[in-house]
Amino acid sequence: MTMNYASMLEAEKKTLTGELIRLGRHDLKTNTWEAAAETADPSELDPNTIADRFEDFEEKTAIIVPLEARLTQVESALAAIANGTFGICRVCSTKIEEARLSANPAAETCMEHLEA
Ligand SMILES: [Zn+2]
Repeated sequence: MTMNYASMLEAEKKTLTGELIRLGRHDLKTNTWEAAAETADPSELDPNTIADRFEDFEEKTAIIVPLEARLTQVESALAAIANGTFGICRVCSTKIEEARLSANPAAETCMEHLEA
């Protein structure tokens, strides 16, 4: 049988979710993550503090965006395992190489259709 991709994916999902929880908050309605904003009323803060907080928000967002994108890939691979379509190239519908999947179990294409 193949490598245990489900457990690899579950482990990665756990790591990614942990990072996202540390940096932001999850909007259940849209299923998106956004940087955690400070809760203090901005009208009570001096402009420098507001600028610092905005910078912090921007920095967190820059980290969150790729983590969130990766989490989406990992979740769709887990969904594919659940519905039996895991490991199939979404371009040509052939089996994705084991070497490629072991390097990236969330891969959606075979080597030939690897996106640049
Ligand atoms: Zn392909």
